[in-house]
Amino acid sequence: MKPTIQFKRNTRSVFFHITTQCNLKCKHCYIDPVQHGSEALPIETIMKWLDLLKKENTDLVLLGGEPTLHPELHSAIKYARSIGYRSITVDTNGYLFGHILDKVSTNDVDFFSFSLDGPDASINDTIRGKGAFEHCIQGIHAARKKGFSVSLIYTVSAMNIHALRMMPSLITPLNIQKFFIQIIGIRGKSAHLDHNRTLQVTYQDWMTHVPSVVREVADLGISVTYPKVFLEPEETFECAGRVSDQFFVFPNGRVYQCPLCEDYPIHSYRIVDNRLIPMPPINESQLFHLDIPEGCVMNKLVQPGNISYDENGHPSHRIACCLLKSSVEKI
Ligand code: SF4
Ligand code: SF4
Repeated sequence: MKPTIQFKRNTRSVFFHITTQCNLKCKHCYIDPVQHGSEALPIETIMKWLDLLKKENTDLVLLGGEPTLHPELHSAIKYARSIGYRSITVDTNGYLFGHILDKVSTNDVDFFSFSLDGPDASINDTIRGKGAFEHCIQGIHAARKKGFSVSLIYTVSAMNIHALRMMPSLITPLNIQKFFIQIIGIRGKSAHLDHNRTLQVTYQDWMTHVPSVVREVADLGISVTYPKVFLEPEETFECAGRVSDQFFVFPNGRVYQCPLCEDYPIHSYRIVDNRLIPMPPINESQLFHLDIPEGCVMNKLVQPGNISYDENGHPSHRIACCLLKSSVEKI
């Protein structure tokens, strides 16, 4: 099975938002047209930027908005394959517009990755909108029927962590290959929704709900990838911005290295005339070098609700890089 995306030292991944347009209005959506642009990139520009960002062993995720709304998604996929991206994943909310499954083959796409934030419509659709659950399940069946490899992404927050335990029984008949657990980032709409810091999950919540589900899903023979979030004392902290190439590319040409920075104009690079231009200080890359007891500096700045302190004022746990994942592989 080909790897999909996770941060490891010296890895290179491109998360390419080819459009910010979407048919849904998820409560936790991180897309902000003011910061990220509102256009769908022309296919000629997509191809040039794919050329620009590819080096040896580069993994690609095409996303949006909803990337299947882009009428040339299939051309972007085929072009990325032709120039040698190591893996190609398409993230989708499941609506699969434009008959995309008929326009690409299993040789073109390594994974279709579907987003589902609840084990049933009552939980998922409260977050992602009416009808989203049913469309996602139908989309998964359609992709599997055509032989595509499928992963499922569950974004954990205080809105749905209690329901994670119901996911193994939902997943079993779906015949998926990978299960990703993500944790909510307090950015975009979440930042507006979370004035009272009620969306983030605590260490206790995380430990109560996540590891047991990871084991249960892995026992089904499905690979599970989940974020580290809370580091134990003996674990090493590393900032992906310092040790690997992770590029989060938006239609307005902004290129970030850290997702937590995406609400602010502090991107490391900008694509101008099809060249990757470093931005002048201060940008996110100066922040990556600040060593603080709480671990991730951007976590402390933009979403400190998951940090707790002991009686001496020391952080109970350092917060890991949001790009650091653990995997339990398919048995
Ligand atoms: S499907 Fe994705 S891009 Fe669309 S509203 Fe939901 S989170 Fe935002
Ligand atoms: S999440 Fe934190 S540790 Fe990871 S790249 Fe961003 S600033 Fe660095």
